[in-house]
Order: sequence, then C-alpha cells, then structure tokens
Amino acid sequence: MHAALPDSDVIIVGGGPAGMVLALLFARQGVRVTVLEAAHDFDRMFRGDTLHPATLQLMETLGLIGELLTLPHTRAVSARYIRPHRTQVLADFSRLGGKYRYLAVMSQMHFLNFLHRALSRYPGARVEFGARVQELLETGGQVRGVRYRQGGAEQTLSAALTVGADGRYSKTRALSGLPLLVLSPGQDVLWFSLPRQAGDPGGSIDLYVDGGHCVVATDHGERWQVGLSIPKGGYARSREAGTAAVRRAVGAAMPWLAERLERLSEWSQLRLLSVEVSRLRRWHRPGLLLIGDAAHVISPIGGLGINMAIQDAVACANLLTGPLLQGALRPRHLAAVQRRRSWQIALLQAQQVIEEREVGSVVGDPQAIHVPVGLLRAVNRLPLLRRLPAYVTAYGLWPERLAARWHPARADLAKTLAGGRGEGERQEHPVGGEASLI
Ligand SMILES: Cc1cc2nc3c(=O)[nH]c(=O)nc-3n(C[C@H](O)[C@H](O)[C@H](O)COP(=O)(O)OP(=O)(O)OC[C@H]3O[C@@H](n4cnc5c(N)ncnc54)[C@H](O)[C@@H]3O)c2cc1C
Repeated sequence: MHAALPDSDVIIVGGGPAGMVLALLFARQGVRVTVLEAAHDFDRMFRGDTLHPATLQLMETLGLIGELLTLPHTRAVSARYIRPHRTQVLADFSRLGGKYRYLAVMSQMHFLNFLHRALSRYPGARVEFGARVQELLETGGQVRGVRYRQGGAEQTLSAALTVGADGRYSKTRALSGLPLLVLSPGQDVLWFSLPRQAGDPGGSIDLYVDGGHCVVATDHGERWQVGLSIPKGGYARSREAGTAAVRRAVGAAMPWLAERLERLSEWSQLRLLSVEVSRLRRWHRPGLLLIGDAAHVISPIGGLGINMAIQDAVACANLLTGPLLQGALRPRHLAAVQRRRSWQIALLQAQQVIEEREVGSVVGDPQAIHVPVGLLRAVNRLPLLRRLPAYVTAYGLWPERLAARWHPARADLAKTLAGGRGEGERQEHPVGGEASLI
C-alpha cells in the first residue's frame, strides 16, 4: 500500500472559502486536488458574506476580479457604531490605499460557485459534493487520506496532504486529536433577513446599540441581514420569549426598521450562531494541516473570519506548492504555515476577546458603558491611527500576498518543478487558456 501512488496530491475537507480558494491556488499550479464537501451544493444562508480588499486584490492577481464583480454585491465603505444620538465610524475603508477601498458584500453562495467554476477548468481538480469525511486514514502516525460517505456508500481517498478546512465544527479537527484552546465563552447571535427598501441607509456595515441590545445590520442589496446579540447560552430563554421579544429588541436599536419587523413572525426565520473565539495550539500532524475556521474560530465582531480563512489558504499556497510539486512535503513545511499565520490570529483574537466582553456587557444591561468612545474619538483625530482599524479589517496584521513565483505569468516555474518530479500529467494552464477563466 505504501508504494502505491496517492489518488490525489491534496485532499481538502470542506468547500468553504478557505478550502475552495486553496483548491484553486493549488490547481492552477498543477497540484492534483480533491475537495470533499459534505453539503450537496454551495447554497447557504447566514454565513460570512464579506469579501475584503485582500481577497479582491488576490482575485485581481488571479485575473478573476472582473468576472467576480459582475456577480450581485453591494459595497460597504465603512463600519459604524450607531447609538441613538451619535454615530461613530469604527473603520473607514475609503481612506485605505490601494485599489479596493471597500468590502464587497456578496452572498457566500455566489462566491463559492464562482470559485467552483474557475476550478472546474483544471483537469487535476475536482469537487465531490455530498461527501462527508468520517475518518482519517493513518499509518505510523502519518495521515495518508480519508474515509468518507457519499450517496450511502463508503469511499476512501489517499493523498500526500490532507487539509482540514471543514469549518468551526471541524470533524477533521476532532479526528486529529489536536488540542483546542477556547478563549472566550462569548455571546451568541440570532440572525434573520428582512427586505431592504429604497431610502434605507446603505454603504456601511453598522452596529446599532441601544436599550441593552447590540444589533449588526449588513446591506445585501435586496435584503438586510440582521444579527441580534444574546447572552451566551441564552437561546432557550430567547426562544421562550419568542419573536415578539426579538422584534422589540431590534426595533429599539433600529427604529427605522420597526415596521418591517412585523414580517419576523416565525421562530424558524431565525438562525442561531454560537459565537466562539478558539484556536488550535498546533495546526498540523504529519500529512495533515488545518486551516480557516477549523484551526481558529474568530468572532463575527470585525467580520474577519473569511479574510483570515482565505489568507491561510494563500499562505498554504505560497509555502506548500513547491514541496508538493517536487514530492518533497515534510512536517516542517506544515509547521511553517502555522508559524506564518498563528501569531496574527492570536493577536486578533486577543483584541476580539476584549471587544466581545464589551458587547457581552451591554447585552441585557442598558446602563453598561460598552464601547471606548473616548478612545475612538482620539483615534479618529490622528490620521495614521484612523486608518488602522480599516487596514486590519481589510488585510489583517500582516497581509498574505500570493508569492510572485506563483503569479499567472510564472506558471513556467510550476512546470519546471513538476517536470523535476517526472509527472507528465501536470497541467498548469486551465483548459482553454488563461484569458477566459470562467
Ligand atoms: C451567520 C454568520 C455570519 C458571519 N459573518 C461574517 C462576516 O460578516 N464576515 C466574515 O468575514 N465572516 C463572517 N462569518 C464567519 C465566516 O463565515 C467563516 O469564518 C468562514 O466561512 C470560514 O471559512 P472556512 O472555509 O474556514 O469554513 P466554512 O465556511 O465553515 O466551510 C466549511 C465547509 O466544510 C464543510 N464540512 C463540514 N464538515 C465536513 C465533513 N465532515 N466532510 C466534508 N465537508 C465538511 C461544510 O459543509 C462547509 O462547506 C460569519 C459566520 C456566520 C455563521
């Protein structure tokens, strides 16, 4: 069995933003990659729907930005904190340098379908839907692939590397035995959608705070995605209080939405997000690496989850493509990905724990002083500091850029490396050429 060639170079468990971006980055360099996705499609509501400047820049590097931006989206140029008599800008993306000075708010379903279409042009890449991973295949402590269920049948797949990108409730993480550090019990969020109307405010992601309630609202073009913070573990009590209590809470914080809130009448219209801030101490074992939410769950505060998941994927592509193409992947390469990414995740999470406590203190306590208004005012007076929150949201603390050697024009290098391993089946250009990618 050991002598047999693996079925794939890389198995990616989970076709979320981290898994699909990584699959695309690997596939375009000729790495054979299989994505196993438990769901039957990418149709999903109430997920992170923000594409940050770092992601837009990456799509430009890949020659995909034009087509991406033809998909339905809105643009948020700022994030604001809104109280009854005061509105404060938490992050002003319009002041950023660079070409993309906004967050694109796009349904995750559109984004993932877009990545899937791009990926389908590479013959060495495939996405298996309805494929739920259940077991890691291991020999001598080395992960060599997975066992999964698809259409009622058990299948196995082997690979030089298995990447767990299966989100916050990661099965891969549970199977790996890697210890998880939970930093904060956090709060929880109830999400729902309401139609948007002409004349509604727009162009910003807003956090409304009033009457002991925190509500976040994101403009999705035809609808608002609204999230109401509730105390951690308070779901049963909220459910007992019913939709009327949710309507009251949101209406107090967002009075202009009060009339439309009547449409929120069934509990089934609400979706619970259990907020968590946690991370793995170690992201890898021989033959296995975890990335995105599977390696670190980030609170929705600041909307950093997708950005960090995609930046993990970019770091993987930069550090692992060469060793994979040369058939020389070692545990130290996986450790390098964690080294590159984990310190900034840790710093961002530390900041989030503080912010979470602020939000947690206001939920259910109208008197609580929750956001450091004085500090915000000071930050807003200093031009350099004023740009900092926007920069960190847009790019993270240390942005991951696709290494120049993996830019489209350098596909010749991948060919050389693949040739060095003597594999004739490598294909670094998509079928039909690079000009029309979708
Ligand atoms: C309601 C909500 C609002 C959010 N808002 C924001 C926001 O505004 N901005 C932001 O940046 N982030 C936001 N987030 C967080 C963001 O959605 C996540 O951080 C991001 O999707 C993580 O990407 P990922 O690829 O790591 O994991 P996921 O997107 O969770 O993808 C994991 C995938 O793995 C699949 N999977 C799971 N188990 C298995 C298995 N055993 N076998 C095969 N496949 C499996 C799942 O079906 C899923 O498709 C929000 C999250 C939620 C829930």
